[in-house]
Amino acid sequence: MSKNNSRFVQPQGSIILKASREKPLLNQHPWIFSGAIDQTEGGLQPGDAAYVLSSKKEFLGIAVWNPKSQITGRIMSWADTLLDDEFWHTAIENAHKRRHWLDLEPNTNGYRMVHAESDGIPGLIVDRYENWLVFQALTKGIDVRRNQIIEALTRVTFEDGSTPLGIIERSDVSVRKKEGLPQFSGQVWGKTLGGPVSFLENQHCFQVDVLNGHKTGFYLDQRENRFLLSRQSLVKKKRVLNCFAYTGGFSVYAAVGGASSIISVDSSIPALEIAEQNVNQLGLDRPQDEYLAGNVFEVLRHYVDTGEQFDVIVLDPPKFAHNHKGVQKAARAYRDINLLAMKLLRPGGKLFTFSCSGSISNDLFQKIVFGAAVDAGRTAIILKALSQGADHPVSLHFPEGHYLKGLLCEIV
Ligand code: SAH
Repeated sequence: MSKNNSRFVQPQGSIILKASREKPLLNQHPWIFSGAIDQTEGGLQPGDAAYVLSSKKEFLGIAVWNPKSQITGRIMSWADTLLDDEFWHTAIENAHKRRHWLDLEPNTNGYRMVHAESDGIPGLIVDRYENWLVFQALTKGIDVRRNQIIEALTRVTFEDGSTPLGIIERSDVSVRKKEGLPQFSGQVWGKTLGGPVSFLENQHCFQVDVLNGHKTGFYLDQRENRFLLSRQSLVKKKRVLNCFAYTGGFSVYAAVGGASSIISVDSSIPALEIAEQNVNQLGLDRPQDEYLAGNVFEVLRHYVDTGEQFDVIVLDPPKFAHNHKGVQKAARAYRDINLLAMKLLRPGGKLFTFSCSGSISNDLFQKIVFGAAVDAGRTAIILKALSQGADHPVSLHFPEGHYLKGLLCEIV
């Protein structure tokens, strides 16, 4: 238990903003860039809690401080409060309650419970898989408070009244370098995790390696888009190519929808092994499916060269642009795979195409896919604009929280 006089609980000083740079904060954007700070008072140390004051010294909120990061302060509360155990318990409980309207259970017990800034807790991600919680501490402000957060997570109650079995930390993410933090992953509380966790997504059972998989083990943000692929009207008796398949999320849904054959392509062999298990778990006899380890760019080119054709193609690549500087190069990569995929689709074929790069806007992504259609000599019609699942909400005050964009297109 933390003491209320700890420097991580009680504000140790103040951050006073420049008049010219305080507008975003007045509008409740939670980031304080180093260049927006006029001065600090109280000899703040990394990780400390601090009052945030406007240029006229009005109270704006309580932030956590880290001079090692360009984002030097992050607002944890817009009210004057201690960052004590109750604070963390309430913040996590509020985020959890925000998902209740989705009525996910009992069909889905894997979802994002806390989505950082979008839930008012900058730097903290919490995902649930069955009764296991997996969190990521992305910032110093969260890292120094991890014991408080772990304690708050042990107090979570799920909808059926059950409580967490174990808590795993996956703070092995490169953004921590920007905060001056080391990489860490491992189990931090509860029953010892013996192997993969099984959880349900829309009634389908998935295996997830929460200790070694990407992110916290699974791309939970695609749940609603994967569900579309189980529509028989889209995939029944169709030939499906799932590119960047990871552990077969989209492949499972295509199999449920009755696809005649599914090729899952990924560069990671361990991911493809789990993909095959996940599809086999459905109990359908599908000897025709293929799990292909390779580079999607090369595989697509090879299929174009050999005259292959598909009815449905999924393109769910990793983040190609990591920041604004990378946008141009990323745009070319998105264009290339979309162009190749469009060439491979039969008339009337469906393309599910995504970008999870925060620095590529909806508009830009649409323009890139348009450019690919023009270059492929095909007509593309957007049937549906796609986004991250609603367990990854977006605060209007923090539009950066909207990162996943997608288009379901018919390629005429
Ligand atoms: N669609 C997946 C998530 C995809 S994540 C799901 O629903 O779960 C992106 C995947 O792309 C990762 O599994 C990564 O291993 C793979 N990957 C990255 N670059 C690749 C490349 N050039 N060729 C093939 N796979 C690649």
